[in-house]
Amino acid sequence: MSTIVAPDIVTRAIHGGLTPDPTTGAILTPIHQSTTFVQEAVGSDKGFTYSRAANPTVAALERNLGRLEDAPPAACFSTGMAAIASLCLAVLQRGDHVIVSDVVYGGTVRLLQDVLQNFGVSASFVDTSDEASVEAALREETRLILIESPANPTLKLTDIRAIADVITRVGAAIYLAVDNTFLTPVLQRPLELGADLSVYSTTKFIEGHNSTVGGAIVTRDKELLERLRFVSKTVGLPQSPFEAWLTLRGAKTLPIRMQQHSKNALHIARWLQEHPLVSQVFYPDLESFAQYELAQTQQDSGGGVLAFDLHGGEQAGVTLMNNVKLISLAENLGAVESLITHPASMTHADVPSTQRAATGVTDGLIRLSVGLEHTDDIIADLEQALARAGGL
Ligand SMILES: *Cc1c(COP(=O)(O)O)cnc(C)c1O
Repeated sequence: MSTIVAPDIVTRAIHGGLTPDPTTGAILTPIHQSTTFVQEAVGSDKGFTYSRAANPTVAALERNLGRLEDAPPAACFSTGMAAIASLCLAVLQRGDHVIVSDVVYGGTVRLLQDVLQNFGVSASFVDTSDEASVEAALREETRLILIESPANPTLKLTDIRAIADVITRVGAAIYLAVDNTFLTPVLQRPLELGADLSVYSTTKFIEGHNSTVGGAIVTRDKELLERLRFVSKTVGLPQSPFEAWLTLRGAKTLPIRMQQHSKNALHIARWLQEHPLVSQVFYPDLESFAQYELAQTQQDSGGGVLAFDLHGGEQAGVTLMNNVKLISLAENLGAVESLITHPASMTHADVPSTQRAATGVTDGLIRLSVGLEHTDDIIADLEQALARAGGL
């Protein structure tokens, strides 16, 4: 793995869809912190009327994120979950069925099992890394396949093109959506692999600085985009101007950050793999990773998140997580600060334990979002915390 990011995306991230402010020359898009926009005459406006429907700062972020995937402007939302919820509300009706990767963000499980089920939408959690299982789970009423690759938190991959091929082969009207939060368009472009939509929690790598929450959906399907905007405006889920501005500022350095996150994560993954207390490391660019071959063709590099297990199991893991100093014990990932998480008790606590165990989210699994600190410092911190975990 030598070149980590596609060269043209580096410039697009900084300039894509953006121009200096025409009235002042401000190089950055101003924060248009305004509820409403004055209309010149009845029926005549400048494209903005009310910030629940559209806002110029949010629109700038939407153009920029769309350009990263050669797509029309994205639809941005207040959070990643608002994006996923809007997607479901936009494409599903009572009686419809959704196929979801069996390992997904905990909030997605909650949305489908505890909210949408009450509206007559059913969901099957399927091992989407196996296309035969996806095909077997298809029903007449299936309208949406939502996959997460790499999956949170086990990093399991799904062959996106293979799933797109299944949909084409059966000839059904099914949307294929990929939650691309872990890799971002810098390292994986789902639309080029046959997906209809890329879904993001911009909270993570895209904003990248632990400053705000947000979500985005990118698609080339104009009708679907209209429908998503209609749902967001109707339900009231749009991104706000200040959060959009922060996210846009983060997006400009996304390619350079993803490159360094990947380098750091691979370095740490290799180091962990050699450590006697570590039983297993999950990271797509490790030769020992079960889907290493797929990772090499589908994504440009491994990304900034890895997971690992200790021989000492949950007890040792908890000791490790309670003793890190530079690394922070916190939910979230994808920021410049390294963050460590215990999925079973934190991000995935609401997923039933049998479902967790069946999908490899073991009670001892530790997720590490490798930040941009010097890897020597990250290793030194892990080393001292591991020594404690090992009872030394
Ligand atoms: C965090 C996350 C979400 C939810 O995003 P929020 O911005 O926290 O609402 C969805 N999918 C994945 C993969 C995530 O990591």
